[in-house]
Amino acid sequence: MKTITILGATGSIGINTLDVIKRHRQIYKVTALTANRQVDRMVSLCQEWSPRYAVMADAEAAERLEQRLKKLNVVVEVLSGIDGLTFVASLAEVDIVMAAIVGSAGLLPTLAAAQAGKRVLLANKEALVMSGQLFMDAVRINGAELLPIDSEHNAVFQCMPPRFKIPSSSHDELVGVSRILLSASGGPFRSYPIDQLDDVTPDQACAHPNWSMGRKISVDSATMMNKGLEVIEACWLFSLPPNRVDVLLHPQSVIHSLVEYVDGSVLAQLGNPDMRTPIAHALAWPERMSSGVPRLNLVEISRLDFEDVDFERFPCLKLAYDAMSAGGTTSTILNAANEIAVQAFLEERLRFSAIPKVIETTLSKFSGRAANSLEIILEDDARARELAKSVIRN
Ligand code: NAD
Ligand code: MG
Repeated sequence: MKTITILGATGSIGINTLDVIKRHRQIYKVTALTANRQVDRMVSLCQEWSPRYAVMADAEAAERLEQRLKKLNVVVEVLSGIDGLTFVASLAEVDIVMAAIVGSAGLLPTLAAAQAGKRVLLANKEALVMSGQLFMDAVRINGAELLPIDSEHNAVFQCMPPRFKIPSSSHDELVGVSRILLSASGGPFRSYPIDQLDDVTPDQACAHPNWSMGRKISVDSATMMNKGLEVIEACWLFSLPPNRVDVLLHPQSVIHSLVEYVDGSVLAQLGNPDMRTPIAHALAWPERMSSGVPRLNLVEISRLDFEDVDFERFPCLKLAYDAMSAGGTTSTILNAANEIAVQAFLEERLRFSAIPKVIETTLSKFSGRAANSLEIILEDDARARELAKSVIRN
């Protein structure tokens, strides 16, 4: 039996993970589930999965969960807060940690899993964007295994040379790879009139044409900051500089990414746009197992289209490339300002088209520095959030 902690169990990735595990109950046992505040959902997950631990990030929600479970005679140890999250991410009895908390809140528990040498299934790209060097060092030093869940990075990983591992131990593992092409659907506004982007609503921005996801990543997909964060994520996962990570617009989301080799070969991974494929791949790696995803029908799809990405329409993508090139905590600042701007947009306090402006202004007022420690990263993250909030107020 393999034991698993699911950080962010009530979210889109968490639910998809449980859906895959449900098909393989003889192999996987759920030891811990975590969420932020969704007590109702957690009650039903605890009834269905009987984990040893359930953690709510919010202390008051944890109390309510504990009372509800007691009434139902469901025996689960309820913990709360960041201590509870890092505790279940590093339990000795756990083999695999699915890191699927959204945003910077995922950093400490995901890092704890890496420090405890777990197999870390990484969905929470923000952790890597905030603290790439520190995080990859923790993986390396503690012998953790990192497997990408983000569909693009999972696709790239599948197309890498057979000896390639994350973290790569030497550049020999990348011999022959000339560049990575990350696919991007372009989101709901790929061909929307640019001058009307001022008035789009959160619901319009969250209506992704191909993927069903949480609201934060859906807005990131609409601005293409999601692809920007993924470029940074790819640089760290695959030890490549940003000028060897390109973005290819591909509206159908069937090719999930490609790896180009020096001999002219280009390897791609294809599949239906369903996160259960990368989740099952990372759970079972290096084996394969069924995921519940229907077979890809290329005849029905019949055509695949490609376009260059328009940086003027998607300024967030350019901001992310520049932040990665600048290095240090610049991408921490980018990520923090983006989280604040997206939250303000979702709460209808900020226009969609102002999201990149808030990030750009924050970056222009606050230069990054060497990201040498967790303290520095958390300090710059907090300061960037305050700055971004004041940019939005003014
Ligand atoms: P979601 O909003 O659906 O779920 C987020 C989960 O995190 C929930 O369980 C929530 O309770 C928990 N959470 C939120 N705030 C928290 C906090 N402060 N402390 C502790 N827990 C908290 O998000 P999602 O779409 O499942 O995405 C999760 C992560 O996976 C994100 O980093 C996202 O970028 C990444 N990802 C998602 C997809 C997708 O298809 N949904 C694809 C690729 C990558
Ligand atoms: Mg992705």
